[in-house]
Amino acid sequence: MSFKTDLAASIRSIPDYPKPGIIFRDITTLLGDAVAFRQAVDELVKPYVGQGVEKIAGIEARGFILGGALAHQLSAGFVPIRKKGKLPHETVRMAYTLEYGTDEMEMHVDALRPGEKVILTDDLIATGGTAEGAVKLLRQLGAEIVSACFVIDLPDLGGRRKLEALGVEVRTLVA
Ligand code: 5GP
Repeated sequence: MSFKTDLAASIRSIPDYPKPGIIFRDITTLLGDAVAFRQAVDELVKPYVGQGVEKIAGIEARGFILGGALAHQLSAGFVPIRKKGKLPHETVRMAYTLEYGTDEMEMHVDALRPGEKVILTDDLIATGGTAEGAVKLLRQLGAEIVSACFVIDLPDLGGRRKLEALGVEVRTLVA
């Protein structure tokens, strides 16, 4: 039996979270729906099958959930990109831009070999500040970024254009 669901309808919108005026796109409802979760992962991996992808890099925290599933489907490894101070071994660090101010993200220094083919993933791209930092961090370790993929794009915020300007292909499922 095969199912097809409306992925956009499986994502819940929470008004005024985390602060007034923001509509938060909550993917826990998609993840909790067996059909929607499988469909999202299947649609995200499809163009990458047979492309020799060696690692999936997932951005903390929701990128870990998608990234683990993508890595399994592609028989690739998974590497976490974490907020600073969370990884136990020696790290490389990159500053990235938030709506107000900056923060830093880290990867283990030995997470990738130079030239490894990597896909970056997260649940959502908005301004692209987080993903831009991740791209720079991956390139600092010598990764060849095949593509960056997200379930949700908030196109008015310009994240896709920011990554494309860095020469990274961007794929998203729901706008
Ligand atoms: P950006 O750096 O592109 O402006 O924001 C994207 C990052 O913030 C991602 O790591 C994403 O998980 C998180 N984020 C921002 N807004 C939302 C939202 O409405 N829903 C979810 N699920 N994540 C968000």
